[in-house]
Amino acid sequence: MLTDSAMHIRDILTPGRTSISFEFFPPRTEAAAEDLRRTMDRLAPFAPSFVSVTYGAGGGTRGLTRDLVLRLRKEGPFDPIPHLTCVGHSRAEVQELLEAYAAAGVGNILALRGDTPRDGRGVASEFMHAADLVRTIRSFRGHPDPRGFGIGVAGFPEGHPDTPNRLVEMDHLKAKVDAGADWICTQLFFDNRDFLDFRDRCALAGIDAPILAGILPLTSLDMARRIAGLAGGARFPAPLLKALQDAGADTEAAREAGVRHATGQCRDLLRQGVAGIHFYTLNRPDAVVRICEDLGADLNSPAAKLTCPQPARTAMAEAIS
Ligand SMILES: Cc1cc2nc3c(=O)[nH]c(=O)nc-3n(C[C@H](O)[C@H](O)[C@H](O)COP(=O)(O)OP(=O)(O)OC[C@H]3O[C@@H](n4cnc5c(N)ncnc54)[C@H](O)[C@@H]3O)c2cc1C
Repeated sequence: MLTDSAMHIRDILTPGRTSISFEFFPPRTEAAAEDLRRTMDRLAPFAPSFVSVTYGAGGGTRGLTRDLVLRLRKEGPFDPIPHLTCVGHSRAEVQELLEAYAAAGVGNILALRGDTPRDGRGVASEFMHAADLVRTIRSFRGHPDPRGFGIGVAGFPEGHPDTPNRLVEMDHLKAKVDAGADWICTQLFFDNRDFLDFRDRCALAGIDAPILAGILPLTSLDMARRIAGLAGGARFPAPLLKALQDAGADTEAAREAGVRHATGQCRDLLRQGVAGIHFYTLNRPDAVVRICEDLGADLNSPAAKLTCPQPARTAMAEAIS
């Protein structure tokens, strides 16, 4: 059972240490709910700083997200951060959700635009961009924490498909932070150079919010194809693709290749002083458990932080200050 108000993200993301966190999606069936329960049981010993729960844009998982978040808040074992997409929502609907989350002491929200449904529903939304939602959450009154909700937003190391102009895209990201976002969580990426360059470009743009790295361990070539479709394309380094290809029909070898790659990414990110690593679990524990074990996540910590020698500020932040 958690306290009246969960930790604010500004208290979770302390400089010099790296948070770990997990993303889940709300299950739609009893069998999927059982999978999620098993996944949570396996991941609980790593005492993540928080878990996040995805939100079905314009679709049917909205109530499921809220119910799962409220249940976790009440029963534990994790501090849940709900994703909230604004496409298709009215201001009244958002207000209602914020009131429910605040009443339950939910500390933080990941504020997103969401993708416009293919059938065009939601086009006439009262919210056009995630920055509008950030402003709405920031102006919400009635949260038990006087700072209000901690607010996260999405960042795209490889770029967001709607905005080919990377300079303009950075202006849009800065607008979200200026509107009141406290932290940024990235889209998945498989080449750390994309993340590190993104982080440097954020620093150049004057964005100083902590940036959590979104990591997905691939476990097969088919999964890579599916993910590339969902993420609007993703840059897969050739060695990773080769390892998955070489594994062929050997599912164990493919999983091993994906875990090795993701673990290498995490180790490098830790060396580079990343603020946090957010694992996209897809409600499956095996690969993430392996990575956390390899990284030596502190199982005894009430909120796991990965310790490593870290620069207090990035080289780029030093260079431009
Ligand atoms: C960590 C993470 C979690 C996610 N979770 C979910 C989830 O739970 N459910 C879900 O449906 N989706 C989720 N998504 C996907 C996300 O909703 C989509 O990628 C969506 O297309 C972009 O959302 P955003 O919040 O970045 O939107 P925005 O910040 O609004 O940006 C969307 C696009 O609009 C552009 N833009 C922003 N402001 C302006 C402006 N003023 N004028 C013109 N263009 C502008 C941006 O450059 C960008 O190209 C997640 C993504 C990430 C990275």
